[in-house]
Amino acid sequence: MINEGQRQPVRIARFSIDGNVGFGVLEGDELDVIKGHPFAEFERSGQKVPLDKVRLLPPVLPNKVVAIGRNYAEHAAELGNEVPEVPVTFFKPSTSVIGPGDPIAYPSFSQEVHHEAELAVVIGRMCREVPRERAKDVILGYTCANDVTARDVQRREKQWARAKGFDSSCPLGPWVETGLDPAAIAAGLAIQCTVNGEQRQLGRTSEMIRPIEDLIVHITEAMTLLPGDVILTGTPAGVGPLNVGDEVAVTIEGIGTLTNKVIKRG
Ligand code: MG
Repeated sequence: MINEGQRQPVRIARFSIDGNVGFGVLEGDELDVIKGHPFAEFERSGQKVPLDKVRLLPPVLPNKVVAIGRNYAEHAAELGNEVPEVPVTFFKPSTSVIGPGDPIAYPSFSQEVHHEAELAVVIGRMCREVPRERAKDVILGYTCANDVTARDVQRREKQWARAKGFDSSCPLGPWVETGLDPAAIAAGLAIQCTVNGEQRQLGRTSEMIRPIEDLIVHITEAMTLLPGDVILTGTPAGVGPLNVGDEVAVTIEGIGTLTNKVIKRG
């Protein structure tokens, strides 16, 4: 039996090579291919593939991405919003998810697309009505996310389905880090966004208004979460425009960097 508390830190990537798709555990600059999937106890096969020979894919294929709005006070203020009494929740569809290195296609119906660097929680097991003290048990790990937003459309339309749900608006990756507990680190994790190498956002996950456990309780009060589902936990201050040709990178301490380029939608 593996004791959950003694589980070793592991970075799990999803990749493709020569038309085959699999999961692997990162070891230096190689992936140790795992048998099966990472949502149950798994075995490493010992078969290694070099990282520079694979294409990294989104680390999970979520059934749904549940996102939280205005979870950092400074970010709420920069867009002229109050911190909501009840967390703002919205969905990003599975079709919005892209992986590390995949292009963000600038949507035709917007002239103002913004980056939003966010810590993403990856759910490890089917769960509903999770009590706060069990919230950690349903987490597989964490990855980086960019809640790419058509800000002009968000202002214009009452619901955010188009503004935040267009194709390629949810970059995730580069892998799931399963050995981290951001809540156990008093200062939280540094979360940064750069555009063309220039810093735009810098915050700490400890600045979240509602902590991750509370978000899991709040969401699962309403709906069942499935293995591979993702929760986006909100963005710190400093959101700003992306233009075609830009390279946007989200870096979270202890996890890694998720980089995507913005292209014109073909
Ligand atoms: Mg957001």
